[in-house]
Amino acid sequence: MIEELYPLCRSITGQGLRQTLQTLQRYIPLRMHEVPSGTQVFDWTVPREWNIRDAYVRNSRGEKVIDFRKSNLHVLNYSIPVHLVMTLEKLKEHLFTIPEHPDWIPYKTSYYKENWGFCMRHRDYLSLEDGEYEVFIDSSLENGSLTYGELYVRGDEESEVLISCHACHPSLCNDNLSGVALAALLAQWIHSAARRYSYRFLFIPGTIGAITWLARNEENTRKIKHGLVLTGLGDSGAMTYKRSRRGDADIDRVVLHVLKHAGSTYGVVDFDPYGYDERQYCSPGFDLPVGRLSRTPYGTYPEYHTSADNLQFIRPESLGESFFRIAEILFLLESNHVYVNVNPKCEPQLGKRGIYRNTGGRVSGGVNELALLWVLNLSDGRHTLLDVAEKSGLEFGVIYEAANILYDNRLLVIRDA
Ligand SMILES: [Zn+2]
Repeated sequence: MIEELYPLCRSITGQGLRQTLQTLQRYIPLRMHEVPSGTQVFDWTVPREWNIRDAYVRNSRGEKVIDFRKSNLHVLNYSIPVHLVMTLEKLKEHLFTIPEHPDWIPYKTSYYKENWGFCMRHRDYLSLEDGEYEVFIDSSLENGSLTYGELYVRGDEESEVLISCHACHPSLCNDNLSGVALAALLAQWIHSAARRYSYRFLFIPGTIGAITWLARNEENTRKIKHGLVLTGLGDSGAMTYKRSRRGDADIDRVVLHVLKHAGSTYGVVDFDPYGYDERQYCSPGFDLPVGRLSRTPYGTYPEYHTSADNLQFIRPESLGESFFRIAEILFLLESNHVYVNVNPKCEPQLGKRGIYRNTGGRVSGGVNELALLWVLNLSDGRHTLLDVAEKSGLEFGVIYEAANILYDNRLLVIRDA
């Protein structure tokens, strides 16, 4: 999926974004929304739609020294159309490079200020000869619409889990396509699974897409009980979780429990008002319980926002591990019930129900027995299973299994808040 999406020239509006969502429609029943340019969304305005067909810079011998067709990163994203002849000195005011990484093309944008420019390898920049250059950008910036994709999957409850990813970066894999692909596969899985929560998957252009969705769905946000922004999930670094603004929301506790018991190193950072779309979901007027899951945090790896964030930079095994962790997180959210012990006066006699014998063979060291006692003791209608797991120091899965056994033996009933 990522290989297929990689060549498309995405932006915050336009055909590249639309084609990306259309490609996803082959995997999931994604609904596409079009919001007209000029629409007011809180303090912002939906911009004009940007499309690009071709772009290049030619030297005086007619050779293309920069060619959009070789990499869509070569054009400053959202460049206005130009067709000019100019000296190298003038041209250099519109060129962007990374001197420390002379073989990488930087990714640059100018969404909200009219500008044009080219991004190139520093090595090629140094070899540009004096003389006249023909500059051509065959783009358009016209009234159109902003496109985003949304998939709502109804569960037993109206309460929602929000999964959001940005889909506005052109040929960049970790930053953008890793989140897009994983969100799509999660949606495919959730769609076919029994579920308690309703799920809402958003594939949106960064910042303006989240702002647009929030402006159009303000009422609906009250239903969002848990949320994750997914991005940067394909590199080989450790998983990193950024807490929601609340810091102690259920999603924060759930993700940290899963990462803690996953057996690999991981990082946790507190909320800050910079980053991806958690900035909008966690703005004070919404303050939604939405955290962000990534691997190496953006901006801390040199490949970030360069042509080196490519198909080789992301690893199948990293994408696989990320998927598995998110699946565990969703499983925990789904199973995190509050139970009530219907036999709370002294311990129930487990032996006569055959519970010890049933479980003793499967887990050594009496772990299950201890889990049974913890669940019975804390199932007072006030503790979730995650509370029991945290207080006991046991992994959620062990507690969950114990609760299921007790529930099947009619020693517990579910009493969710
Ligand atoms: Zn980015």
